[in-house]
Amino acid sequence: MAHGHHRAAGTLALAEPEASGRRIDHAALRAAARDLLLALGADPDGGDLEDTPRRVADAYAELLTPQPFRATTFPNEGYDELIVARSIPFHSLCRHHLLPFHGVAHVGYLPGARIVGLSKLGRVVELFARDLQVQERLTTQIAGWLLDELEPRGVGVVLEAEHLCMSLRGIQKPGATTVTSALHGLVRDDARTRQEFLALTGRSCHAA
Ligand code: ZN
Repeated sequence: MAHGHHRAAGTLALAEPEASGRRIDHAALRAAARDLLLALGADPDGGDLEDTPRRVADAYAELLTPQPFRATTFPNEGYDELIVARSIPFHSLCRHHLLPFHGVAHVGYLPGARIVGLSKLGRVVELFARDLQVQERLTTQIAGWLLDELEPRGVGVVLEAEHLCMSLRGIQKPGATTVTSALHGLVRDDARTRQEFLALTGRSCHAA
């Protein structure tokens, strides 16, 4: 997140997909899905699997492509309490198994100079979730975006997710959720603010 520091106040920040250089090659994706079917011992030619490589390619492309959005920020006219959007649903793909993990994000900040529309917090979650991810990195990236774009006095991000790679295979614990958090500024350092944020996200003061 190198942007944000040279931006004049009041301009719009067009949020781009992560600058990871990842670009989806649809034709290669269809071919790879066909190869995967072959490797799984299935016949991809003719029959009801004929359209499966295209469907798989479309599904992965959709899961990994966030909608671009304009994160309009506004001058803060004196609001100095926590702003929290809680239980934002999200889904992502784990980069270890290419299986989904999904859950809810609680995103909050203690405003400084600028604020952002509440609905945009969900778009920020989606921006980073539609990637090959690990939950810890996703949490860090959401918090980093808020720090860069809003220069707030504090930021708190808590993610609760179920990983299909954990619930359907491996240790097979259906329903088990993984919780990650990133707390910055006064949300981390000020006991009252931290407790208020964690209470608003439905977590006890020991959960982070
Ligand atoms: Zn995994």
